[in-house]
Amino acid sequence: MYIVKKTFEFSAAHQLELSYQSACTNLHGHNWTVTVECRSKKLDQNGMVVDFSHIKRHIIERLDHKVLNHVLDINPTAENIARWICNEIPHCYRVDVEESQDNMASYINDDYDRGEE
Ligand SMILES: [Zn+2]
Repeated sequence: MYIVKKTFEFSAAHQLELSYQSACTNLHGHNWTVTVECRSKKLDQNGMVVDFSHIKRHIIERLDHKVLNHVLDINPTAENIARWICNEIPHCYRVDVEESQDNMASYINDDYDRGEE
């Protein structure tokens, strides 16, 4: 099994839809830190699982300096953002999304290696 990890940052705003009173329902911003982990039993024709620069560019183009509520069709919690990123990237196994140093959400794709046996 080959494993690659890529960490990058993006800046974006969001406001959360919550069932309780919270300052997070007001529009506010974060400098998000994202770590993407991809796994594959086979390498591609270039000897890679996935190109690091493609991962970063694809996500940055979609999310950086955006209002996440406008560009994503989800309630943009860190958990939902992690799942959305994982679904955007080939061979993605795990995504960690940090809103700040003390707040991180992760999503693990349990189906990541289906069909690669
Ligand atoms: Zn927030």
